[in-house]
Amino acid sequence: MTAHHANNALLELRGVQQIYTSGQRRFTAVQDVNLTVSESEFVALLGPSGCGKSTLLRIITGLQKPSEGKVLYRGEPLRGVNPHATIVFQTFALFPWLNVFENVDLALKARDIPADVRKPRALDLIDRVGLDGFETAYPRELSGGMRQKVGFARAMAVEPELLCLDEPFSALDVLSAESLRGELLELWTGGSIPTKAILMVSHNIEEAVFMANRIVVMDKEPGRIIAEVKVELPHPRQRKSDEFQKVVDEVYSMLAGQTEIEAVELGVAPGEQGLTRSLPKIAISDLAGLLEHLSELSSNRQDIYRLPDELKVNPDHILSLTAAAEILGFAYVEKGDITLTSLGETFAEASILARKEIFATRIRRLPLMRWLTAMLAHSEKHALDWDVIHAALELEFPPEEAEKQLDTLINWGRYAELISYNDDKALVYLETPA
Ligand code: ADP
Ligand code: MG
Repeated sequence: MTAHHANNALLELRGVQQIYTSGQRRFTAVQDVNLTVSESEFVALLGPSGCGKSTLLRIITGLQKPSEGKVLYRGEPLRGVNPHATIVFQTFALFPWLNVFENVDLALKARDIPADVRKPRALDLIDRVGLDGFETAYPRELSGGMRQKVGFARAMAVEPELLCLDEPFSALDVLSAESLRGELLELWTGGSIPTKAILMVSHNIEEAVFMANRIVVMDKEPGRIIAEVKVELPHPRQRKSDEFQKVVDEVYSMLAGQTEIEAVELGVAPGEQGLTRSLPKIAISDLAGLLEHLSELSSNRQDIYRLPDELKVNPDHILSLTAAAEILGFAYVEKGDITLTSLGETFAEASILARKEIFATRIRRLPLMRWLTAMLAHSEKHALDWDVIHAALELEFPPEEAEKQLDTLINWGRYAELISYNDDKALVYLETPA
């Protein structure tokens, strides 16, 4: 029976549930997920932070066994690590002491592939992802985009039938992300890789619409699937076309009302445990605009879906703004609506000086800002070169993202008058409290 499985299903999740326990607390991270991924499908999993996307990928690749439910691969129950699936992670999980070739080769070694097969295969993949000539380079010598290409080469080296991607472009700068998306699509649509299906976790609506054939929309608390959208546009897709924007709007309307589509949990400072989550890059004036707009409405509340039109701002940017409003405690998002908190209301109605004070008390709590101000406080003359801070951030973020984070820290810090910045000398100062 299995040889002739219905509609070429590769992967099937049936009634999958994941409960995590910490101390006394039992917490349903994923509830009753049913999902089938078939041959030739490119499925995007889209949903807010914490809805269980990474958990599902770990279950699918067999790194984790669900509390309940079935995981079938080609009709057979999955036992142990799935040999037909690999994951590419958001951050470049490369070994810094191994060069490009060795990083790719290691994945093949781990699957007991004989040495004479390994070398040509690794070299061929490095070539196909566009890193020909960089075989002996070390990760630190590569840009973020190039490191992620090594990640792709390593994942594809074992010729997985199912390629799982966990927000693979989100840590890259805009241009590298876009070119890498294009390159992956070319490999995929051109049929030059043995991959039979792709399952990509994303927090970016346009990215999902640009790449996937089917978008599975999730919500959190508990993590579950709430909708599916088929994307039937031919490749290469035109982001500016009406058809494209129509699908974006459709998906947006399903996601609106969820928080943190972007990875915008409180940042973790470099060197602290855990994945570094980035701060949304938004201008305070835009955030203030959103808060003022909400405060003018009678209920201090609005359907998020209506905001792009009302504020003449694109949907992804609105989601960054609502996420920023949430991490700063100015608003909360629930069932498609964003509502001002009393702090947000106070901010919207406050004088310029009072706004700065409110903002300062909020951003002092952000781990990244705490880290920066502590570092400045311990420096000679309470000042540091932009380059020095950037280099420190580069330990946690790819270079372009490090730059964005530092820009945001400086912008927010300047506004709150916690730090100042001298453009000519490229020096960041700690403001001395009056
Ligand atoms: P996503 O990838 O969508 O952001 P995750 O799958 O990482 O979501 O996490 C889903 C929820 O489960 C989150 O609330 C997270 O804090 C929690 N979680 C994830 N892994 C664990 C774990 N090993 N132990 C306890 N809770 C976890
Ligand atoms: Mg995740």
